[in-house]
Amino acid sequence: MADFTPEEEKHIKDEFEKVFKYCKGCKIEKNEKIIRKAFDLANKAHYGIRRRSGEPYIHHPIEVAQIVAKEIGLGTKSVVSAILHDVVEDTDYTIEDIERLFGPRISNIIDGLTKISGKFEAQSLQAENFRKMLMTLSDDVRVIFVKLADRLHNMRTLGSMPDAKKQKIASETLFIYAPLAHRLGLYAIKTELEDLSLKHQHPKVYEDITNQILDSEKQRIAYINKFTLPIINELISAGIQFNITGRPKSVYSIWNKMNSKGVPFEEVYDLFAVRIIFDNDDKISEKKQCWNLYSIITDIYQPNPDRLRDWVSTPKANGYEALHTTVMGPDGKWVEIQIRSKRMDDIAERGYAAHWKYKGINENENELDKWIKEISKLLETPESDALEFLDEFKMNLFSSEIYVFTPKGLLRRIPKGSTSLDFAYDIHSDIGNTAIGAKVNYKLVALNHVLKSGDQVEIITSEKQTPKREWLEFVITAKAKSKIKDAFKSERKKNIEKGKKLLEKRFEELDLTINSNIFRKLLAGYETQSKNDFYCKIGRGVVDLTDVKKIIAKKSKNKWIRYWQLQVKKTTKPKKKKEKAEKISKNKNKNQKIELTETLDNVNFKIAKCCNPIPGDDIIGYLDDNEGVTIHKRKCKEAVKLMSKYGNKIVTPEWKSQKLYSYLVSIQLFGIDKMGIVNRITELISKDLGVNMRAISFNSTDGVFDGRIDLYVYHTYDLNKLISNLKKISGVNKVHRIEN
Ligand code: MN
Repeated sequence: MADFTPEEEKHIKDEFEKVFKYCKGCKIEKNEKIIRKAFDLANKAHYGIRRRSGEPYIHHPIEVAQIVAKEIGLGTKSVVSAILHDVVEDTDYTIEDIERLFGPRISNIIDGLTKISGKFEAQSLQAENFRKMLMTLSDDVRVIFVKLADRLHNMRTLGSMPDAKKQKIASETLFIYAPLAHRLGLYAIKTELEDLSLKHQHPKVYEDITNQILDSEKQRIAYINKFTLPIINELISAGIQFNITGRPKSVYSIWNKMNSKGVPFEEVYDLFAVRIIFDNDDKISEKKQCWNLYSIITDIYQPNPDRLRDWVSTPKANGYEALHTTVMGPDGKWVEIQIRSKRMDDIAERGYAAHWKYKGINENENELDKWIKEISKLLETPESDALEFLDEFKMNLFSSEIYVFTPKGLLRRIPKGSTSLDFAYDIHSDIGNTAIGAKVNYKLVALNHVLKSGDQVEIITSEKQTPKREWLEFVITAKAKSKIKDAFKSERKKNIEKGKKLLEKRFEELDLTINSNIFRKLLAGYETQSKNDFYCKIGRGVVDLTDVKKIIAKKSKNKWIRYWQLQVKKTTKPKKKKEKAEKISKNKNKNQKIELTETLDNVNFKIAKCCNPIPGDDIIGYLDDNEGVTIHKRKCKEAVKLMSKYGNKIVTPEWKSQKLYSYLVSIQLFGIDKMGIVNRITELISKDLGVNMRAISFNSTDGVFDGRIDLYVYHTYDLNKLISNLKKISGVNKVHRIEN
C-alpha cells in the first residue's frame, strides 16, 4: 500500500479543517469531537487508497462533507455521515462498528447510504436500489441529502472515468438525481447536476452553447445595465437595501429550451431575467416588501398581467417563495423579474436545509415532511414493481403544480394535468374509490375532467361505485394510480372469498358436492379461465348461479352461455314467400343436424357496436359465412340493411336468461339546472337495485343542463323503469336512452 507524501497528508488535513469553516454548529466542542473522530476513522479506513484521478480517496468523503455543510447548510450529523459514507461500503468496517462508535442515528444514515451504493447493474436493480433509498427517506431525510452531495462530487470528478461509465452516471444523474434535487428545492445543485450531465453526455453541444454565452455576454450585460439602472435609482431613493443580479441561464436550460421549442440559441438567450433580493426589514412583513418592490418596478416598466406569479402567498411544495413578474423593457424586450427576500433566496438556492435554519428543525410538520410522508405512503403499496414505481415516482418529481380549492375553500396542491379523479384520491382513497363525477366551480363534470389552477372542486360519490380499470388511463398522480390498483387487488380478494361461499351454499342447496369434473364443466359453461376468476365473477355478481344444475347436466360445453342463452326460433322472411321459403327450408335443412342448442355450440357471436342491444330489446341475429352471429336491434339501420340484403341469413334469437350479466347503456337527460338536482338524480339511480352507475357527466349553460349517464343494467325492464322514475324528478324535462 503506497503511503501518501507529506504534501498530500497536509492537503488532506487542510481540506478537512475547512469543514468547520462552513458549519458553525460543528465548532461546538462535543460536535467537533465527534467530527474529528469520524475523520480519524475514515482517514484510517481509506488510507493508502487513491481515486482513479490519483488523489487520495479520503478527499472524496471530505468534499462530500464540505458540500453538505456549505452548499446544503446541514449540521453535525450530516457532516459525520458524509465523512463516513463510503467506509462500510468500501472497507472492512461494518455497520455494527459504526453504531458502536457513533450511535444508532448515524449508523442508520450510513446504512441507508450503503444500501443505495452507486454500484448499479441492471436497470431493475437500479430501480430497486432507488426504492431502498426512498424507504430510508422516511427514517432520516439526511440520507438523501448526503446521497445528493455524494453524487454531485462524483459528477464534478467524472472526468477520469472510462467513457461508458461516464455516460451511465451522467444519464442516471439527469434521470433521477437532478429532479430529486429540484423537488427538494436545491436549485443550485440541480442546475449544476444538469449542466455536468450535459457536459459529459454531449460535450460538443455543451462547448458550443458555453461559447455562444461568452460571445453574447457583453451585449447581455449592457442591456441588463440599461434595464436595471432606473430600478436601482428608485429603490435607493426609497431607502431599500437590496442586491440586483442579471440571472444567467444555465447551459442545460438553454439546450433544453432549444430542443423542446425547436428554436435557435439567440431566441432562447434573448429572454432576460433579473433577480432582486432585498434585506429583510423586521418592521414590514416580507410580503408587503415584495409588493412594494413590485409597485416601484411597475411604475417604471409595464407588467404583463398574464405572467404574474405569486409564490409568496402560496409557496411551492418544495418551499420556493418569490414574486415573479414579466415587464416590457427597453427595445420591446420582455424581462422577467424575480423579487425575493434574503431568506427566500436562501431557500431558493439551498432548499429545505436553509428553511430549517430559519424555522428550527423541529418545527411542526413542514412541507418537506408532508412530501416525505407521501413518498412513504407510496412505498407501503405491496408488490408494486420497482420499475413501475420508479416511473410513477419520476412522474411526481417532474410535474409542476396547480392549486385547487375544496368546497370549504381549503387550498390543495396537485400536479398539473390532474383530473377530478386525481383530486378525489388526493383527498382520500375512499372518496376516489366511490367517485362518480365532480362539480368544478359548481358545474358538473366527468371524472376525467382536467383541473385548472384556482378551480373549486367538489367530488360526487356513490356508495355503489367501485374503481374501474379505465380510470387508470386518465389519472396522472402516482397516488391515484396505486390506490386504484390496490382497490382491484383487495376487491378481487374479497370477491373470491364471497364467490367461494356463494358457490358452496348453492351446492348445499342442490345437495351436490363439487368435484373436479363438475368444476371443469362450470368453468367451461361460464367460459372462465381459472377457479379464482370464476369465484371472483360469482362474488361480483356477474355470474348467476341459478343455472348451475343445467350446466352440470349439459353434456357438451355451450359457448352461448358466456353471454346469455339464445334460442334460434326461426328465420324471418320478408316477401317473395315462395322463393325465400325454399331457401329457408334449404337452410334449415342444412342446419338441421346442428340445430338450436347443439348447432350453435361452435358459433362465435357478437353484439353489434352500432346499436348495442341488451336483453329485452327487440333483436335480430345475422349469420355470417363462418356461421357466427351478430346481434342487432331490429330497428338498427344496419340491421335493416342486412335484412333487406341477406334475409336468409337473419335469425331471431330470444333472450332466455336474464340477470346473468349486466350491460352497458347510456342515457341522456335534459332539464333545468336547479339546486341539488344532480344529487336527486344520482340518489335515485344509486337506490335502484337493478342499475349500477359507471360514469356521469353534466354540462350546464344558462340555467339549462344536459347530462349523460353510463349505466349497467340487466334488462330493458330495469332501464325503462329507471327512465320513468327520472322523468318524475321535478326539473328533469327529457330522459332517453342513447341508441347509437
Ligand atoms: Mn461516495
